[in-house]
Amino acid sequence: MMIAFTMDDLPLWPQSYPPVGYTAAGIVDAIRAALADHRITGVYAFCNSWPLDKHPEFAAILDDWVADGHHVANHTHGHIELPDVTAEAFIADIDLAEARLAPWLSKAPRQLFRHPLCHWGETADKLARVNAHLKKRGLTPVDVHSWAFEWTWNRAYRNALDARDTEAQTFVRESFLDFSVAQLRHDMAAAEAWFGAPQIGITLGHNVPFFADIASAYFARLKSEGVEFVPLEEALTGPAQTAVGSVVSGEFLVLHQKLAAAAGQPLPRFPADMVALHARIVEMAVGQTG
Ligand SMILES: [Zn+2]
Repeated sequence: MMIAFTMDDLPLWPQSYPPVGYTAAGIVDAIRAALADHRITGVYAFCNSWPLDKHPEFAAILDDWVADGHHVANHTHGHIELPDVTAEAFIADIDLAEARLAPWLSKAPRQLFRHPLCHWGETADKLARVNAHLKKRGLTPVDVHSWAFEWTWNRAYRNALDARDTEAQTFVRESFLDFSVAQLRHDMAAAEAWFGAPQIGITLGHNVPFFADIASAYFARLKSEGVEFVPLEEALTGPAQTAVGSVVSGEFLVLHQKLAAAAGQPLPRFPADMVALHARIVEMAVGQTG
């Protein structure tokens, strides 16, 4: 399996500040170290610029990211979701991020954009307006074939850390490695079936405490399962890329799931044998909103 790994939401996970024992910079440092250990290079981080207004010192997080040979891309200024705002407001937020992130965006080989929560717009009018603006600005929209739901594992992990429950922490770590492999295989098989050919998969991680702690083991596990990490640019070709932003979708779905849903053929989100595990992690995550 060829996979282009990406990050979302640098320099600060929008849902919450890091808990005691973690910092925004420390979380990204750990992920950078894991990427370096596994020789995964040229990773695009889809960034929000609002944290830089509140915390100018977070600019160093993006400086360090780019100094490692990774890249920065636009993920809006405020991490606003298109279904929640007008097309005009969304476009203004894209442009604000372009201005604020310019020192780092200008160093990237490609000018890329990812919609917050991968929503493409819940009306044809919004979708068309945003697509036209991206085209005008020379921004290529980038979607995702598979996500690992590590943000849900993060909430379960934070509860286990708060409870000082080492058994629960171990369960959260080990179950994530099993789940993430099964989820990736499930999504890539579904993408291959949908597009009629094997795909270079685009995956993502978030800068949350759990991912900082598990990233190295996660990359090692994926490699042991035969994953080859390739540059994102290699995945931005062909019918899958042409399909990005081609249908109305305000749902939290990966690329081929959005296309299938729009065609009236919704696909299962999880592998059948992982539904119960995911539900258990959701239960363990109760009470954590970050
Ligand atoms: Zn995001």
